[in-house]
Amino acid sequence: MQNYWLSDVNYQKSFIKRIRESAEKMADGSVDIPAAEKEYAEAMLGIVAKYGKLSDYDGNGIYVGYEPGSENENAKIGVKCGNCYLNESEKVCKIIKEEIEPNGLCRLAAIPDSLVNNTEKPEDDMEDEEEEEEDDLDDRLNDRQKKMYETYESIVEEYGIFDQSSKANGAHYAPAAKNPFIGEGMVCGNCVFFIGGGKCEIVSGNIEPNAICKLWIIPEQLIKVRQ
Ligand code: SF4
Ligand code: SF4
Repeated sequence: MQNYWLSDVNYQKSFIKRIRESAEKMADGSVDIPAAEKEYAEAMLGIVAKYGKLSDYDGNGIYVGYEPGSENENAKIGVKCGNCYLNESEKVCKIIKEEIEPNGLCRLAAIPDSLVNNTEKPEDDMEDEEEEEEDDLDDRLNDRQKKMYETYESIVEEYGIFDQSSKANGAHYAPAAKNPFIGEGMVCGNCVFFIGGGKCEIVSGNIEPNAICKLWIIPEQLIKVRQ
């Protein structure tokens, strides 16, 4: 998946500019927080005014679930105390007792959309997608192929991706023009490592959808037996 946040410098600059503008607005009280979110934040302030600041298991029955910056995987997209309407200062929150960090987060956050980088998916969504992908592979591959898949992935993690050569680190890649197995469906486009856009997870360089290499893992239902 292309990571716009890391790859597009102009995008980074415009996002940082947007964050600064919104942070300034927040500091001078003119932040454009949606009406419903503002009402929610004010309701929380009302609860705190009546019952005192909150913490987990304090008998108020409201679970705060604060996590420090080191555990908040969504800080990088702006979902963090530093952007929360309920943040009083770097270390103080208006509604929870615990000392906070700018990159921390609790489940009661009120963060204006304008401070969240929506082009990055929250970590939970990415984890869900990865789990779905794994479930999908579980359904499509047999046990031997699953083992091969795990093995190739761990080799690549330890030694880096294969090159296209026929040497020791090579995948023995055959471009489409030299692939004699196209008619049998044995092509990169059917391989579980093919990402699309000319890329493969485990082999470097431009990868053609109708090429093949010795590391192919193709679900059996996509392989046509030659008559
Ligand atoms: S995210 Fe939670 S802990 Fe952080 S400032 Fe907002 S309400 Fe307070
Ligand atoms: S066959 Fe699979 S592993 Fe080999 S280059 Fe093509 S996509 Fe990558």
